Amino acid sequence: MTHHDVIVLGGGAAGLSAALALGRARRRVLVLDEGRPRNRFAAHMHTVLGHEGLDPAELLERGRAEVARYGIEVRPGRAVEVRDTGETDVRLRVVTHEGEELATRALVLATGLTDHLPDVPGLAERWGTRVLHCPYCHGWEVRGERLAVLLTSHAGLHQAELVRQWSDDLTVLAGEVEVPALAAARLASRGVQIVSGKLTSVEDSADGGLAVRTAAGAVHVVDAIFVASRAVPNDGALANLGLERAELPGGQGSFLAVDPTGRTSHERIWAAGNVTSPALGVAASAGAGTIAGGMVNMALVVAEFDAAERALAAQTSGA
Ligand SMILES: Cc1cc2nc3c(=O)[nH]c(=O)nc-3n(C[C@H](O)[C@H](O)[C@H](O)COP(=O)(O)OP(=O)(O)OC[C@H]3O[C@@H](n4cnc5c(N)ncnc54)[C@H](O)[C@@H]3O)c2cc1C
Repeated sequence: MTHHDVIVLGGGAAGLSAALALGRARRRVLVLDEGRPRNRFAAHMHTVLGHEGLDPAELLERGRAEVARYGIEVRPGRAVEVRDTGETDVRLRVVTHEGEELATRALVLATGLTDHLPDVPGLAERWGTRVLHCPYCHGWEVRGERLAVLLTSHAGLHQAELVRQWSDDLTVLAGEVEVPALAAARLASRGVQIVSGKLTSVEDSADGGLAVRTAAGAVHVVDAIFVASRAVPNDGALANLGLERAELPGGQGSFLAVDPTGRTSHERIWAAGNVTSPALGVAASAGAGTIAGGMVNMALVVAEFDAAERALAAQTSGA
């Protein structure tokens, strides 16, 4: 069976960066990518040094061209399962959605995550344009405008304090989250108003903003809404391997446990980018991918020396 040194699952910023490091280290690499990067809803990306305001799709197009220079194939497709055969070196098998089995010595999981938004009609359609997840990514573009933070839990109160940095016209849409009196007073001290009650819809307003309706019939017009999604890592393909997981702080959820180099509890599997943490932007995800790529190569180098030493010792003892 022909095999790869490394299969990278996911061709976003993290996966392509890992592939680039590995390709330049002369490794045989395949990138399998479903092609649905997390930021595909946004036309521009920000706080990415050297690429300020670039279309995220353009970054990935450049990345695919760069890895191709080192002979790396980026194949469209989705991994549904990863198996460990227990063999000594080429021990992993990636099963694609088409049922193909691909053999590899090591794996980098860079499959990102899926954002689940609160179930308010009109919210999801505006994700990435007027419904935003992160002020570092898009806050500058709406600075000084009528902003809102939609709470999905008490953790959103920190996001509200943060977003106040970008505008002094800020409303907290508390929905069904009860805001403690002390927190409400703290927000009020900087002019933040709180609107309670279930939200029933978000629509375009006559003045070009967003009209947010509550079940009580009130309408609040804002220009942009920040909301923390429920972030679910796209790591289902590895579920049967039973890798260690970690509960991230602040109710961010359960993610694969990785060391600072991205190594999981499996000695031949690394993970990088948003599949390990929702807090990583494009630059941080690319950086994590680069580190993981380098460390996978190092692990294979060590395995190759170990195997060569064993072979030599066997030859010597047999002579
Ligand atoms: C609306 C929005 C706007 C954003 N704007 C910014 C910004 O301006 N600046 C910034 O720094 N960050 C921004 N981000 C964050 C940014 O999207 C992430 O930091 C970045 O996408 C993480 O890269 P990644 O490679 O880890 O994952 P992704 O970019 O999500 O790439 C993962 C890839 O893996 C694929 N995949 C998933 N499962 C499988 C599978 N089983 N098999 C094969 N492939 C699979 C996916 O389809 C996808 O192509 C934004 C996020 C959102 C939601």
